[in-house]
Amino acid sequence: MIRMHIGFDDTDSPRMGCTTYVAALLVDKLLKKSVTFTDYPNLIRLNPNVPWKTRGNGALCLRIECEEKIVEEVMETVVDTIEKNSDLEYKGTDPGVAFFFNTIPSEVKAFSKKAIQGIVKMKDALKLIRQFRAEAVGFKNGRGIIGSLAAIGETSEEDHTYEIIAYRTPENYGTKRKIEATSVKEMDEKTSQFTFNNIDPETKRILITPRGPDPILYGVRGETAEAVRQAHEMIHPQEPVERWMIFRTNHGTDAHLRKTSSVSEIKPFNPVIIQGAVSKEPRIIPVRHVVFSIKDRTGEVDCAAYEPTGSLRQISKQLILGDIVEAYGGVRAASSKNPITVNLEKMRILELKPKITLLNPKCPKCGKTMKSMGKNKGYKCDKCGFRDSKARKVTVENKRNIKIGLYITPPRSQRHLTKPHCRYGKEKSGKPKRMIADWHYP
Ligand SMILES: [Zn+2]
Repeated sequence: MIRMHIGFDDTDSPRMGCTTYVAALLVDKLLKKSVTFTDYPNLIRLNPNVPWKTRGNGALCLRIECEEKIVEEVMETVVDTIEKNSDLEYKGTDPGVAFFFNTIPSEVKAFSKKAIQGIVKMKDALKLIRQFRAEAVGFKNGRGIIGSLAAIGETSEEDHTYEIIAYRTPENYGTKRKIEATSVKEMDEKTSQFTFNNIDPETKRILITPRGPDPILYGVRGETAEAVRQAHEMIHPQEPVERWMIFRTNHGTDAHLRKTSSVSEIKPFNPVIIQGAVSKEPRIIPVRHVVFSIKDRTGEVDCAAYEPTGSLRQISKQLILGDIVEAYGGVRAASSKNPITVNLEKMRILELKPKITLLNPKCPKCGKTMKSMGKNKGYKCDKCGFRDSKARKVTVENKRNIKIGLYITPPRSQRHLTKPHCRYGKEKSGKPKRMIADWHYP
């Protein structure tokens, strides 16, 4: 028996397809060839801040065991299925496939970590493929090979989550998705301890159904395969489901965010967690974005909360100079108009400075607010005539309307990788010991 890791990426386009759907088709085909799956299909989200990627940036890996004599046949099936189901005519869709055998070396795991947290190059992927005698096939410019190798190397031995995805029948592609809303609300209420981001709490919008022409009817995310399987049973679709499958993923794990020890180390397109003191107070920039700056001993950086980020934007607006915060988010490169900017996905307020205002003193005789007699010349009362040449302004501490704590953009504007509030404390270590029997249909 031989162990095979099959990675693939970049088959879809904004107008059609979904690489997870290609994975579901492939699972169906491979199971007919008597291969054994050693893990759920892995759906790995790579760095969402890569400038040339506007969609989810998800790559897939299937991990199987099979007899050596069918390896060639498996590879042919994979390449053929990817070729037939990719939007090859679309400019910017450059599919890739990679095959890796037996154990995943640490160099490939490191490559994956970099692909999730930063920028990796094609030449580094090809070098690893040669070095470890893996195989790769690229279509057009073959950029998908990068994601293919990255999906192979992310073995998700630490925190991970699951998603069950149900697919539409082709005649319904592009039409409005039909699903009973009350069944989604009920599912959310009954499974909310083990599933996440079904419904946006602020707008009550259903989040399990995507918009767009892709084949996905809905996807439910959760902590275990059992949980998403059960959630799926509670949903009443009002259109046919062609197939469904459970994926093991890095959704909701914050895998893309890397703690950066100083502002000077922040690099464009590398998502960060960075601590600093508010150095420029929040200002509102058209159209309704809030921007403030933080600094440490090494430099200063802008942080932006965009309008869609709702409550996070409201909190950011109330920061004052000297507040200590930890900013989490993707990094936008400097432009002619703006300096390098952290686009906030979440923010932890660590310390709030007292908000002080200076007021004229009150008259000790009649209680009326006194008037200044000139700089350092004291104050006098207009009402009773009291004068005090030693009187000075009094300090008043205003109540802060925000609290120390963690603030996260609402589910409707979260990245696939953003860890939502409800997942804190549920982080896993170690792969699942076994797979549930019914993880796919058909
Ligand atoms: Zn007075």
